[in-house]
Amino acid sequence: MFEDLKIIYWPDPRLRRLSEPVTVFDERLAALVARMLELMRQDRGVGLAAPQVGENLRLFVMNPTGEEGQDRVYVNPHLSDLEGEEENEEGCLSLPGINATIWRAKSVRMRARDLQGNEFEEVQTGFIPRVWQHETDHLNGTLITDRMGPVARLASRKILKELEEKFLSGGGVLPRKVKRA
Ligand code: ZN
Repeated sequence: MFEDLKIIYWPDPRLRRLSEPVTVFDERLAALVARMLELMRQDRGVGLAAPQVGENLRLFVMNPTGEEGQDRVYVNPHLSDLEGEEENEEGCLSLPGINATIWRAKSVRMRARDLQGNEFEEVQTGFIPRVWQHETDHLNGTLITDRMGPVARLASRKILKELEEKFLSGGGVLPRKVKRA
């Protein structure tokens, strides 16, 4: 059903949309999640959000260790009780070649639904909430380029330019007011 789905790259404008809540928990949703997990694993990512495969839905998958059995799915995630601050290096499957130090809350409460639509809650500290915050940003059209400091921004200019050229030469079209990083 989703065999043709691929990871899309900055500056594809689909990465900038506000995603819509999931309302139907069916086989189609399960198939989408299965394909997203496959794509995440292929590119050795720790997380992948639906807009990164062009699907305008509030959901993401992650696997914090890369080990089998550690796959996690969060549908309609909601973060609260953000506490502390911590900076660490982050990359993004939609921004290949870019690594930047990003400030994130250290401890976070997550409320989300699973693939069956059941609500669950989790509180975590450290790496897992970092991924939660990165992926939830994607659902709101926010990327690490929006969160990086001036030094990282300057250091990324060449790679961003190359990504933009690749996008345009592949037939991609940018909206008139593209947000340049
Ligand atoms: Zn990302």
